[in-house]
Amino acid sequence: MNIYADNAATTKMSPAAVEAMTYCISEYWGNPSSLYAIGQRAKEKLEEARAQIASIINAEPREIIFTSGGSEADNQALLTAAMIGLKKGHKHIISSAFEHHAILHTLKKLEKNGFEVTLLPVHENGIVRLDELEAAMREDTCLVTIMTANNEIGTIQPVREIGELCRKRGIIFHTDAVQAVGHLPIDVKAQFIDMLSASAHKFHGAKGTGFLFCRKGIPLSNLIEGGAQERNKRAGTENLPGIMAMAAALKESVENMDAHNAHKMEIRDKLIAGLSKIPHSALNGDPKQRLSGNVNFSFEGIEGESLLILLDQRGISASSGSACTSGALDPSHVLLSIGRIHDVAHGSLRLSIGEDITDDDADYIISNVGEVVAYLRSFSPVWRDLMTGKREFIL
Ligand SMILES: *Cc1c(COP(=O)(O)O)cnc(C)c1O
Repeated sequence: MNIYADNAATTKMSPAAVEAMTYCISEYWGNPSSLYAIGQRAKEKLEEARAQIASIINAEPREIIFTSGGSEADNQALLTAAMIGLKKGHKHIISSAFEHHAILHTLKKLEKNGFEVTLLPVHENGIVRLDELEAAMREDTCLVTIMTANNEIGTIQPVREIGELCRKRGIIFHTDAVQAVGHLPIDVKAQFIDMLSASAHKFHGAKGTGFLFCRKGIPLSNLIEGGAQERNKRAGTENLPGIMAMAAALKESVENMDAHNAHKMEIRDKLIAGLSKIPHSALNGDPKQRLSGNVNFSFEGIEGESLLILLDQRGISASSGSACTSGALDPSHVLLSIGRIHDVAHGSLRLSIGEDITDDDADYIISNVGEVVAYLRSFSPVWRDLMTGKREFIL
């Protein structure tokens, strides 16, 4: 048995994406900035990919800047809004407590440079509240950055409503949509989005490729200075193989989005129902307003890392948080943000399923997680304390 259930960390490239990439490498290897035919042929492909991606999110081609991935797009978006804010003396930023580190660490850097950051709570269900967002908005707020869907617990934020609140007040709204693009419908106009980050390897494209949508009229700031690529806003010879693969992967993902989501949702709900039967366990995040592929559970009295290793031995690839935090001993900031205390946050499991998951896979996961949790509890000192009443159960 081999079940890959870590699609939130990365996805396998789709055959269409691999084909687009190899086709590019052999046929369109020229430098898009070169004026001779070989270069111009590559340039055409670059612009074709840009137009295709733009139309999928209802943007204009010139509003798409290619980047090295989601982290770079997040960094550039935040820097852009900060530079615009600085010119007006607006140095207040609103975000949420459970953003990806690409956002949180960039916000920390901005704080060191005189910006003030308000992190909205996300509550037990993992969703920001609009009244709290509105109350946090100030005259000097230059940016609201709230992710479309969380990478650990999969909860989906009310993006259109957030965008509308920001648009009314003239505040720039950025969303890290890395977990959403290719998985949820995105319409930057209807959702009042000013900037949006995406990453190809989260929707079956290649790692090291992503894009930033930036609404026309918003002057982008550069992270990388150099040549005139990307309308002078992102220097460096374009990663055309990655970009062509990204366009192919995105096209395929959105064409199959409804069917994939329906299938994954069915399996997700089966996994949630099955894992809920494990005593002293709890689902993390809202049960319904979450990505179709995300299941995140906490099990009392165990260590998530041990659970992962034993599941790996049984052919199940999963995660205990995000790839960026596993290996570190700190419990996930996302789980802490929804009120899980340290001990419980440590014993957590994220399954992020793909469209290839089967009903049999779900049965296998449910029975194996149940067995492994019971086994780990059989020699866990924390579990013994819980059972003997020395410690109180939380879940
Ligand atoms: C994966 C991820 C990122 C980082 O994207 P990279 O392309 O790996 O840099 C940012 N935000 C979220 C929500 C993610 O899931």
